[in-house]
Amino acid sequence: MTSAPLEYEAVIGLETHCQLRTATKIFCACATEFGSVPNTQVCPVCMGYPGVLPVLNQKVLEYAVKAGLALNCQIAAQSKFDRKQYFYPDLPKNYQISQYDLPIAYQGSLEISDPADPQRSKRIGITRLHMEEDAGKLVHGGSERLAGSTYSLADYNRAGVPLVEIVSEPDLRSGAEAAEYAQELRRVLRYLGVSDGNMQEGSLRCDVNISVRPRGQATFGTKVEIKNMNSFNAIQRAIEYEIERQISALEQGEAIVQETRLWDDARQQTLSMRVKEGSSDYRYFPEPDLAPICLGTEVLDQWRSDLPELPAAKRRRYQEVLGLSAYDTRVLTDDLEVAQFFEATVAAGAPPKAAANWITQDISAHLNREKLKLADLSLTPTALAEMIQLIEGGVISNAAGKEILPDLLTQGGSPKDLVAQKGLGQVSDPLVLQEVIARVLTDNPRELEQYRGGKTKLLGFFVGQVMKATGGRADPKLTNELLRTSLAAAVAQS
Ligand SMILES: [Zn+2]
Repeated sequence: MTSAPLEYEAVIGLETHCQLRTATKIFCACATEFGSVPNTQVCPVCMGYPGVLPVLNQKVLEYAVKAGLALNCQIAAQSKFDRKQYFYPDLPKNYQISQYDLPIAYQGSLEISDPADPQRSKRIGITRLHMEEDAGKLVHGGSERLAGSTYSLADYNRAGVPLVEIVSEPDLRSGAEAAEYAQELRRVLRYLGVSDGNMQEGSLRCDVNISVRPRGQATFGTKVEIKNMNSFNAIQRAIEYEIERQISALEQGEAIVQETRLWDDARQQTLSMRVKEGSSDYRYFPEPDLAPICLGTEVLDQWRSDLPELPAAKRRRYQEVLGLSAYDTRVLTDDLEVAQFFEATVAAGAPPKAAANWITQDISAHLNREKLKLADLSLTPTALAEMIQLIEGGVISNAAGKEILPDLLTQGGSPKDLVAQKGLGQVSDPLVLQEVIARVLTDNPRELEQYRGGKTKLLGFFVGQVMKATGGRADPKLTNELLRTSLAAAVAQS
């Protein structure tokens, strides 16, 4: 008897480092601006001079706690900072102030939509969220490839920029799920306003822990860590590559080595970097220069009440209350700026479905084409709502709306004024339309004859002719009604 081939399952967890969007660093008053001249945002505290004392930036604590609350975490009644010792040229103090055994938040969860079926959702456990400082940045020069660098420059502007590290439970099972988790996490942090989540600038960095095991096996396989992915697509591809690599190693009877691997985006593969060191190597001990953190219930309640509507709740409301499709909901809620523009348009009187259509179609296309953001547009939600109301009220046609939209996007102004200027008002005067219809019937005797002969599908042809004659401005509903009456009369005459 031959046994069936083994089916494997991947077990994936993410460690995400996210820079908090505070004006100053976590333990000193230095600025955190990205892209400044190297080593201009430094001081004795973040450079680790002897005798200096760190002071916790209260905004960092507030942002970390709000992130913890938004991730349904327990907030620690007592928390503290620890020193994580290691030597590296980007770390001037030779230790990083982080949190070890008493993180500020723990045991939470994040709801993501299932990439295979967006109608379904899945809860991913959050093990912990802790605060720490970022390290500086090394710039390798002299050669294009890191291995061939002839010198390295150190920029300490980033040393001491506040971070939260968010560790997920190993609840993810595929590259697509992991990418969705990372995107949802970024959405939550952006909605909260605690981070810009910009991956290109390194504000959001994900490390992946991944192992595979035969389906049904309870114990985990040997895990490998992957670093260096700077897009959601890279996260997905790196995981998919690594799943294949580990399965094929196991099937050939090779052992998986516990190691750190780098994702090489150009070669689309993971490469071994180093064998993983354990946490005991860091010789953690409590940071003696910072007092433990004890949060009062009052401040905690205040921060909890500050939380905005989060992405998952917004998605549910858009579908269940506003009646939008899963697709529209996803496009509108992906970016808080877009969601707010949509909600302001609806608040100004536009029906939700029509507002969603204009934003997800014509306006999105314009933004993509011109590489702009909503904030760059001259169009306001009020003007969009006014334009939609003109269409819904039959004052202008949908086509006329599309005609004035480019002006509204680039120059702003009032849709009513533009309609008047361009003479786009819909023709809904029955007498005017009757005249046009009479002319259309006279000008197309062959089609009229066929219609009389029973080819009633030609109604659409006549509607098209009326539209053509009026430059698309004829009220479609009224045109249909009047044409039916005129054609019925013509048939009765024959
Ligand atoms: Zn400083």
